Amino acid sequence: MPPPRLVFWETTRACNLRCAHCRRLEAAGPESADGLNRSGYSAGSVSSGGELSSKDALTLVGAVAETGRPILVLSGGEPLLRPDIFDIAGRAVSLGLTVSLATNGTLVDDAAAEQIAACGIRRVAISLDGPDAASHDAFRGEAGCFDKALAGFGRLKRRGVSLQINTTVTRGTLGRVEEMYGFALRLGADALHVFSLVPVGCGAEIAPEAMLSAAESERLLLWIARKAAEGRIQMKATCAPQYFRIAQTVAWHGKLRDTEGTAGVGAGRPGAEAAAGAGGSAGRYAKGSAGAAGMPDGEARRGGAARGGSAPGGGDSRRGQPEDARGESLVRAAHPSGGDALSAATKGCLAGTGVCFISSAGEVFPCGYLPISCGNVRERPFREIWESSPVLLDLRDPDRLKGKCGRCGFKLVCGGCRARAYAVRGDYLAEEPSCAYLPP
Ligand code: SF4
Ligand code: SF4
Repeated sequence: MPPPRLVFWETTRACNLRCAHCRRLEAAGPESADGLNRSGYSAGSVSSGGELSSKDALTLVGAVAETGRPILVLSGGEPLLRPDIFDIAGRAVSLGLTVSLATNGTLVDDAAAEQIAACGIRRVAISLDGPDAASHDAFRGEAGCFDKALAGFGRLKRRGVSLQINTTVTRGTLGRVEEMYGFALRLGADALHVFSLVPVGCGAEIAPEAMLSAAESERLLLWIARKAAEGRIQMKATCAPQYFRIAQTVAWHGKLRDTEGTAGVGAGRPGAEAAAGAGGSAGRYAKGSAGAAGMPDGEARRGGAARGGSAPGGGDSRRGQPEDARGESLVRAAHPSGGDALSAATKGCLAGTGVCFISSAGEVFPCGYLPISCGNVRERPFREIWESSPVLLDLRDPDRLKGKCGRCGFKLVCGGCRARAYAVRGDYLAEEPSCAYLPP
């Protein structure tokens, strides 16, 4: 049984912000007297509101370490609101885990920055959802939080902490991703992880208006692939597993470094040259979608034939099948950052196969967006849950995928977002609803 590679732990549900796209269902709930959005959290005790106590938290860290050496991502809510967060991080580091902290950055004062650097946290991921205060603050629901997050970023940077920017792209911000990329470079971030909205929690409230269409998503992912290939900053498309279909297909055609026209990422005109390569398959793209190539359906098919593109899952043995071992190496080749475990890009959806999410109350989920509990660490050892949960076993068997994902030649490098399938179709094994690709 392969051990988890990434364990996300929601250390607390308390948060000082109320972001439009929060995964938590109750994030829009009323504020408590101290102005914090506690959502199941009571001030004064880290064990209240159902959260794991300090003792249980340290036990959990030990249990995670027993499964191997996954990266442990301490998230929230806002993890810096948990008073024992540095004790937890320090214990995890002492047990050999690579620890990352996911924060909104607004609470990183000098004292917090000092403790983060001192306790051995390898990377801090700060969420910035726009390159300026107006866009970020509107998204995050609080004026001034952009400046506070930047100040926190600077304090950590000065202390030599590795920094990642997490940015969520919606239809409203799609046209600004190039700006966001430049901003991340100027800030000196080590990584830029681009998140696609998943219609869960508050994300469901703002969908579908803010959700990217399949065609918009294809263009964004193609743009990310190109930027990743430039190697100026570690890039990762998070929770957009089709990225790996695109990166692999483009890599096959050797087009990744040759693409042009990314200015059209938010304007409806993708990199046309990459399109020609990325379209090289016997599959098609949904009508009205630009496809991986940004080409109309017929063009994609003609491009594939003209360039000798192999059919995903089809019969070009010289190029190999997408699901063969070569797939991962090609995707890695498309990601100069792939060697860094904290930004490693290996395949699409890892829910239940390489990733899991542990809620503040100890419930284990395949990922933070797929609300199907696999068990609670208060009742069963973490390892036992990871190794035997029927839901996780389902997710590890690509033969159980349904619809077009089930017959797709890219299913081993992509697999489709199981959370979107669940949110839209009520079945986590159903076909991914926001993929433009139509396998043969
Ligand atoms: S199901 Fe997979 S792709 Fe979808 S949100 Fe979870 S980890 Fe990301
Ligand atoms: S059909 Fe499913 S497995 Fe194939 S590329 Fe689309 S989302 Fe991925």
